[in-house]
Amino acid sequence: MFIYHDFGTSVKEYEARGKKNDFPVINQCPHCKGRIRLHRHGFYWRNAIEEDQFRIPICRLKCPSCKQTLSILPTFLLAYFQYTVNVIFEKLESLMIKRKISGYHQLSLFYRKRFLNRLTQIEMFFRDDGFRGILPKNAKEKATKLLRMILALGKATFVRRSRGHFSYNFMAL
Ligand SMILES: [Zn+2]
Repeated sequence: MFIYHDFGTSVKEYEARGKKNDFPVINQCPHCKGRIRLHRHGFYWRNAIEEDQFRIPICRLKCPSCKQTLSILPTFLLAYFQYTVNVIFEKLESLMIKRKISGYHQLSLFYRKRFLNRLTQIEMFFRDDGFRGILPKNAKEKATKLLRMILALGKATFVRRSRGHFSYNFMAL
């Protein structure tokens, strides 16, 4: 299992800080719900691609009670995606809002397809968050509106707070 944490840094800065980063203390186990401080349990390494390819440590914790582990993912990186959240949103934004295509077209289309398949859950997130407005019926218009709402809320905030609405994240199957 994993949770998202906003470290408030770029990927580059996160990489530079390495294992010395300010990792959050978790005082309740999301597995057994025990109110107990999780122990540090090493790191694993992941690729994060933005303007460069970065190799970053992911902090792992272990519950002293139920022995299960928890990873702390930075909000700029989605589980199972090598490209960062910035890259994903830039591609969605250029395709769906600015209506121009940059870089790898296939990748942009892939992200858009995933995004279009997640509109119901994304809408649910905003409804739970108190949004009472009307959304367009047309799927593409609705997608554009929801994308604008995510960008207005803040990418990191959306990734962190929408965690419970998706099995992994808004882009995963
Ligand atoms: Zn536990």
